[in-house]
Amino acid sequence: MLEIAAINSFYGRAHILHDLSLSVNAGEVVALLGRNGAGKTTTMKSVMQLVRARSGRVRLEGEDITGWPAYRVARHGIGYVPEERRIFTDLTILENLEVGRQSARYAAPAWTVEMLFELFPNLGERRHNRGKTLSGGERQMLSIARTLMGNPRLLLLDEPSEGLAPLIMEHMAETILRFKAKGLTVLLSEQNLHFARIVADRALIIERGEKKFDGSFAELEHHPEIRDAHLSV
Ligand code: ATP
Repeated sequence: MLEIAAINSFYGRAHILHDLSLSVNAGEVVALLGRNGAGKTTTMKSVMQLVRARSGRVRLEGEDITGWPAYRVARHGIGYVPEERRIFTDLTILENLEVGRQSARYAAPAWTVEMLFELFPNLGERRHNRGKTLSGGERQMLSIARTLMGNPRLLLLDEPSEGLAPLIMEHMAETILRFKAKGLTVLLSEQNLHFARIVADRALIIERGEKKFDGSFAELEHHPEIRDAHLSV
């Protein structure tokens, strides 16, 4: 589904991603793990072409999307939920979702507002409330729901568990598992190994923009030295 082939990404002169290669298969949930500053967000931005890799390629279902404008990448089927999770605070929940629908013009919509309210009942109950009345966790859910309105085939979630209270985190994990059950492919970045293990099929560990591990969580458990070297646990 997604293939990143030997990308090198920079901010100015700072070389952040070093010949980074990784792939995500259709229907898979993959967790990109690494400490603060390891390059997880930069990897997601490089997929979206918000950061342009100086070398290397990014392919979606075999099609080379390297160098495309980000809006075109989004239209082509990659939904990106950044860490900042911007929502429109002066618009209602329903209006926020309608904004997300704009980019779905080009494809048959897989998600309707009602389906999303079934998945996120809190949002459904308060559909006419403004974004600014939502808690942090609810904003997180709304930004994901809005991205789904764009009908992505691949969803990029930057630290979905960050800042969530334990109960909300559990709901977030269930939600991601439901996406998977619906056939959505997900690449998420995480610092929370426990959360990642619940939702993901495979772990990718990066440090200083280099891949250090690619395998199952069972395999990772057999190599605590890898975990200890590259993750804060
Ligand atoms: P976090 O969990 O903190 O978001 P991360 O793994 O997502 O960490 P990145 O945000 O990709 O890491 O950052 C990778 C490196 O790039 C860090 O050293 C960071 O300081 C640097 N960096 C990030 N954004 C910029 C920028 N706009 N300009 C310069 N350097 C940046």
